[in-house]
Amino acid sequence: MRLATITNWAYGTTVLLTLASATTMLLASGAQEKERAAVAQRYQLDQATSKIAAEVSASNDEARDFVITGEESHLAAYRREAEALRSVENRARHLKDNGASADELSALSEAMRWADSLQDEQVDAIAARQRGDDDRAREILFGAEYQRGLDRVTGNIERFQYRLDQRTDAEVVAATTIARIWKTSSEIVLGLTAFLSLCVLYFIFKRRVLHPVVRLSDVVGRLARQDYAVEAPEYDQIDEIGDMAQAIRIFRENGLERQRLEAERAADQAMRALLSRMTQRMQGCDTMHDLERVVSGFMPEIAPGLSGRLYRLDESRNIMVERCAWLAPTHSRPEFSPMACWALQRGDLHRPRGQLIDIPCDHVDPQGNIDVPSICLPLIAQRVTLGLLYLEPRADLPEPRTDIGETYLRVLAENIGLALGNLRLRDALREMAMADPLTGLANRRQLDMVLEVQLAEADRLGRPISCLMLDVDHFKRFNDQFGHDAGDAVLRALGKILLTITREHGLAFRYGGEEFLLLMPELDAEQACQRAEDIRARVKALRMQHDGRELGPITVSVGMACAPLHCRFDTLVKTADAALLRAKEAGRDRIVVAETRRLGPRAV
Ligand code: GH3
Ligand code: MG
Ligand code: MG
Repeated sequence: MRLATITNWAYGTTVLLTLASATTMLLASGAQEKERAAVAQRYQLDQATSKIAAEVSASNDEARDFVITGEESHLAAYRREAEALRSVENRARHLKDNGASADELSALSEAMRWADSLQDEQVDAIAARQRGDDDRAREILFGAEYQRGLDRVTGNIERFQYRLDQRTDAEVVAATTIARIWKTSSEIVLGLTAFLSLCVLYFIFKRRVLHPVVRLSDVVGRLARQDYAVEAPEYDQIDEIGDMAQAIRIFRENGLERQRLEAERAADQAMRALLSRMTQRMQGCDTMHDLERVVSGFMPEIAPGLSGRLYRLDESRNIMVERCAWLAPTHSRPEFSPMACWALQRGDLHRPRGQLIDIPCDHVDPQGNIDVPSICLPLIAQRVTLGLLYLEPRADLPEPRTDIGETYLRVLAENIGLALGNLRLRDALREMAMADPLTGLANRRQLDMVLEVQLAEADRLGRPISCLMLDVDHFKRFNDQFGHDAGDAVLRALGKILLTITREHGLAFRYGGEEFLLLMPELDAEQACQRAEDIRARVKALRMQHDGRELGPITVSVGMACAPLHCRFDTLVKTADAALLRAKEAGRDRIVVAETRRLGPRAV
């Protein structure tokens, strides 16, 4: 039952009880009124009958005095008293109207009848006295019969008064009893009303005031301890409790909002710190391998709910190639054309199952069977697309989680893109530093780096390594006769031949001026000689023109050495150079192979 219904019932009952109490009080007061009326009536009747008795006695006395004395004053007094007695009797005849009972009235009328009879005798006695018959008069008024009549009057009046007393007492007792009953009932009803009112008050106080105040106080205490998980009670009543509950609800909602904002700010700071640390590490990367380690190491921490792959554009083949992966992604091919990715085509984040429906990328699920909620982020630096960051929800989690916002993803992609850009720039600079711009061959600096590694590797594996040292014969002539540009053109043509020869095997370097060095790991002396012969023949077959003039024959001298057949690994270049010198001395346009070394006990 609703609280309002209970209280309404209680109010109704209290009102009814109050009305009942008032009624009983009125009834009790009515009974008392009745009691008072009975007493008043008795007084009235008492007075009337007493007056009759007194008048009977007085008229009797005056009549007797006249009979004895014969004085006229007594006769006059008698007549007054007789007249008064008649008046009293007349009044007494209406006593019935005053509530006298039939029994009482019979006693009274009896008394009056005897009084009238006495009066007749008194009139006779007075008449006898006036005639001078004193004896007769005395005989009448002092006779036994007259005395009995007098006693009967007195007796009947006393009987009347006795009856009246009895009736009045009974009426007073009845009225008092009723008055007491009503009074007691009234007190009980009043007590019940007071009890019910107290119960209602207690109930209302407990349910409407005490309970809510205790509950609200508990909630306020928990809110003060910043425990916003507590549920604020809802009291919709329009009073101070309702206002307080409403205020507490607003306070809690504000607290929750503040807590959410603080948590958001803390998470944002943590994420930004993480991204910043990752960016710092990426800036320190010298190689792609370093960058892959940083990306695959940080990504599970930045987006724990997403697995992914890092792709880099292979510019020579125009293909996206997977460089590393984390948290075991199950979709997206390891290699694909940039045309297969919408993110790369549009140059923006692509999320086919995000807030807006979009077309899935071809590289994600080539068969198109599974609707993968993939995220593709192009990695761009200086407006050049360098790679792709691919993300998908982890397959090993029961519920897919994307616990990173797009803003962070964009920052992340931007940072990785810049790192890729830096690497590309670094590679380009390194290439520029290592390559000879005229011929496109590696330069002397790169030879210094490569040579040591190649020699040590061949030595370690016990494999042969050959070296060809080439020098253009009488090169100065081209410069002198046709100009420096003609000389450059000859060097470029020679570079092309050397690149072609070494494409399958070996490394070609511009050693300096018009001298070149070919390093051919794993080739023995015979194979190296074949390559040298091939080069010599190709150069000799060159027919070049400059400004419409034939440059004439171009020849090269070649010195060849193979370690460990001709020399120790560390003297390979020197030995080949010595062989070249001998080729020059022997007349140029030839190949001279270094002499086979005499292997002593401490050789190699
Ligand atoms: P040899 O048969 O004895 O080797 O005679 P050579 O003329 O080839 O040798 P030399 O050492 O006397 O001359 C080399 C010339 O190559 C000198 C230099 O001016 C020229 N030279 C060096 N580097 C370049 C270059 O990059 N471009 C051009 N055009 N000439 C160069
Ligand atoms: Mg030279
Ligand atoms: Mg030369």
